[in-house]
Amino acid sequence: MTTPVRTRVAPSPTGDPHVGTAYVALANYAFAKKHGGDFLLRIEDTDQARSTPESERAILAALHWAGLSWDEGPDVGGPHGPYRQSERSAIYKRYSDELLANGHAFRCFCTPERLDAMRAAQRAAGTPQKYDGHCLAIPPEESERRAASGEPYVVRMKVPESGVCVVHDLARGDVPFEYATVDMQVLLKSDGLPTYHLANVVDDHLMEITHVIRGEEWMSSAPKHLLLYGYLGWEPPVLMHLPLLRNPDKSKLSKRKNPTGILFYERMGYLPEALLNFLGLLLAHAPEGQEIFGLPEFIERLDLSKISLGGPVFDIGKLDWLNGQYLRALSTDELLARTMAWGFERDRLVRIAELAQSRVERLSDLAPAAGFLFAGRLAVTKESFAGAKLGDDEMRKALALAMWRLDAERAFEKETVERVLKGVGETLGKKFRDLARVYYVAMTGSPTSLPLFDSMELLGRDIVRERFRVALAAFGGVSGKEQKEWQALQAPDQTNGAAA
Ligand code: GLU
Repeated sequence: MTTPVRTRVAPSPTGDPHVGTAYVALANYAFAKKHGGDFLLRIEDTDQARSTPESERAILAALHWAGLSWDEGPDVGGPHGPYRQSERSAIYKRYSDELLANGHAFRCFCTPERLDAMRAAQRAAGTPQKYDGHCLAIPPEESERRAASGEPYVVRMKVPESGVCVVHDLARGDVPFEYATVDMQVLLKSDGLPTYHLANVVDDHLMEITHVIRGEEWMSSAPKHLLLYGYLGWEPPVLMHLPLLRNPDKSKLSKRKNPTGILFYERMGYLPEALLNFLGLLLAHAPEGQEIFGLPEFIERLDLSKISLGGPVFDIGKLDWLNGQYLRALSTDELLARTMAWGFERDRLVRIAELAQSRVERLSDLAPAAGFLFAGRLAVTKESFAGAKLGDDEMRKALALAMWRLDAERAFEKETVERVLKGVGETLGKKFRDLARVYYVAMTGSPTSLPLFDSMELLGRDIVRERFRVALAAFGGVSGKEQKEWQALQAPDQTNGAAA
């Protein structure tokens, strides 16, 4: 009997759900289903400082919205749980102990200061940045004794000094890596918790994953992982690294150039089936005329060994076209039902009516006053901002700081928006009234409109970010140098109220 295929997607809950996660999840889902296997979802929250339950919830919800489901995962359970790495610490510790006992790993007592000095010296000498093996020479008894006495340490894996590790990649063939370039990776941190590398290998083995299909950015981790499989006496899974999604200029897909959040596409009114179809086209090129397909057909077509490694371009124009096709294929009833569910639920309409009531003279004023709440991008140009009391650079700064600082907030409620925008006024030493006009234009398309903070809450984080981006683009954007300088400007709440 052949082993049943098992694949997984393993997002880290450290931010907004990313389209790249949906792309990887789709590849894994379709590959498993094509082979009659199981697809599972594992939460890789080993980075405790950056992982949040909000992000985990949002990722699960966004993948569900996109139309994906999993056979095992933190929300649905399964025989290989728990599926959240923060709940599996004891398991990783056991394997770290085993690696230490077998001499495949060692305790490293180097202080952060020593490591900093080592890296600085490597930088100065232009040699690769990696651990220099300082603690390799500590005899096992001394290592035990120092650990028992409470001296802080991390556990690092050993790496052969020379030789070549050949990674067999399903799409790329054999890719050689010199061991000399592979770092003696930390496996267990000084707090006893694992790093991504240890947890990932242990879980893929224990969860009986047969095919690891993940983003290209993990390719350089493969030699470390293969060493660990070998040290632990385990059969490694088949590896396949998917080409990274790219901006139209071929750079790596980034928030600066393109919206990358799944929720952005939801709030813009793309249909999940169109987004999935679009991601499918990035995984399995289809000839013209055969570009529209649902999941079952995609599963049929998928052949990951034929994937083009060129780096698929996330072409929003193509997505627009596809979405239009899907919208036109709906019956009028369906179109209406989906539009209502997308943006016209009663609770939302009630809130909008409350905001608009004091500002209308006729019923016919209501829809135009609230129209911006149902739109995606607004057609603002530099001229839209005419009449503001701020100079162009000040406006750009006000827009950019608001965008970045809102991005850094976990919550997106009107109180958050108000605090952040007023804080920008303080940072820039400007009257909020003057700034508000700029924000009104960017968010609503007009210098006066419904109450700003409530409106921004209703628009939601993703549409707000996009409108800031569009407004900044109208002024020619922000240079990398400006971004660095402006981001260094402290927000007032970070300076203990010292800012004026
Ligand atoms: N947690 C990693 C991520 O966020 C998973 C990488 C992998 O699939 O091994 O992408």
